[in-house]
Amino acid sequence: MITQKRFPIGSRERPLLVAIVGSGPSGFYTADTLLKQKGIHLKVDMFERMAMPYGLVRYGVAPDHQKTKQVIRIYEATARDPRFRFFGNVQVGRDLQVKELQEHYNQIVYAVGCESDRRLDIPGEDLPGSHTATAFVAWYNGHPDHRDDLFDLSARRVAVVGVGNVAMDVTRILVQDPEGLASTDIAEHALQSLRKSSVEEVVVLGRRGPVQAKFTPKEIREIGDLSGVDLTVRPRDLELDPFSRSQLEKGGAARRNFEYLKEQASQGTSRGRRRVRLRFFTSPVEILEKRGRVASVRMERNRLVWDEQGQSRCVGTGVFESIGVGLVFRSVGYRGIPIPGVPFDERKGLIPNAAGRVLRPPGDENGTSEYVVGWIKRGPSGLIGANKRDSAETVRGMMEDLQGREARSLPEGNHEVLEGLLMERESRPINFQDWQLIDAEEQERGRKRGKVREKITDPDEVVSLLRQGKPLKKGKLPG
Ligand code: NAP
Repeated sequence: MITQKRFPIGSRERPLLVAIVGSGPSGFYTADTLLKQKGIHLKVDMFERMAMPYGLVRYGVAPDHQKTKQVIRIYEATARDPRFRFFGNVQVGRDLQVKELQEHYNQIVYAVGCESDRRLDIPGEDLPGSHTATAFVAWYNGHPDHRDDLFDLSARRVAVVGVGNVAMDVTRILVQDPEGLASTDIAEHALQSLRKSSVEEVVVLGRRGPVQAKFTPKEIREIGDLSGVDLTVRPRDLELDPFSRSQLEKGGAARRNFEYLKEQASQGTSRGRRRVRLRFFTSPVEILEKRGRVASVRMERNRLVWDEQGQSRCVGTGVFESIGVGLVFRSVGYRGIPIPGVPFDERKGLIPNAAGRVLRPPGDENGTSEYVVGWIKRGPSGLIGANKRDSAETVRGMMEDLQGREARSLPEGNHEVLEGLLMERESRPINFQDWQLIDAEEQERGRKRGKVREKITDPDEVVSLLRQGKPLKKGKLPG
């Protein structure tokens, strides 16, 4: 094979070859930022373990937040760029090894998000009926890995642990009238279960105070605005220590949250069909069972202590109480999963990096340029838009690293061999055109049910539809 060494990387003759692993918002914003770089020729290949693109936008954003999902239009425009290719159904570390990417690309960007959960580390956490919020979110969003999960919604009272926006999503889905979700892209299996749900009360547990709650004002208001739902908070939970009071003086989301909660507390209950009870300064210490299933949560009252940096943490007061619940959702944050062949910080659950450049331990540097973006870079926080800024920083580093540095030689067109390699391994990569056909099929199935779309949740069905060319018969691509 002819090497193109005499041409600089990024020239027309020798475009920069970039592999992006992961197709959620951070992956797509990185592709978009790269493709907009001036004065450099490049090609971007994106690998995604799921058959379908968009990661958390498809499988994480709640079905009643359709506006948020419209960000997909931006990603579609990126995917239409002829310099971009999508390989769905390809798991790096299983179907392709990191070493192979290192051989065939000049730069690799890991944009894999945080697919696992933090644990509570309390007795009873793994009892039947105690679930991660992540699993529930994935289930109602039609994630193939969770389509067969079972959530027993015959329980009258449910506990949600954590007061972040994921906890708000889970709570909202549990208490709202399911008919309000019927026209969205909620998975049909979830809609049917929610229609039969007996849940009347969701108790949301925050370990610190209302000022430290992580939910955003819009999300807490959304719950308060649900028709037939009472949102309550105990006045004693709104009594603040001097440090929390001084935090309120700074204004911002904490102040708006607090003012809203005060308003709610003063309103009292109106006997809605369903209730959301917010409890602050409360940690679950044990989940107890009856006949092998979750039956109650034992909780301890906390107080806040502050360190010299002005950070608060909670400590138990030794005052305990129990409430009967039939289901527990743990919504205490996400955690990354290691990719074989890529360094991983077990304590933080992230890929170690400096401003997006992957840090390998001394002696393990292999001459490849590896980068990270999104949650696996900075941790599981921030709204979708935050990934735009984040990917801009990583791409800046990628471009800087190309300056004045002769990247290793790369045989011309070498990345093309990967497609053949995948076929040999009997993996069935899904390209963007395949996805557009499935997209059209899902929208068509949705239309028949009066929904935005009906997601195809069985990966084998996707592959067999594409093999039969069934969606092809419709002959039209959306957009
Ligand atoms: P998060 O915002 O970090 O919230 C996690 C919650 O779990 C916090 O209340 C945290 O309390 C609590 N927690 C952690 N460990 C705990 C423990 N051992 N015991 C009790 N509570 C514990 O995480 P998230 O809700 O998973 O959301 C992740 C990101 O996605 C956030 O940036 C969020 O805004 C975003 N998101 C946005 C939307 C939206 O815009 N609608 C929807 C979903 C997610 P402490 O504060 O005390 O640690």
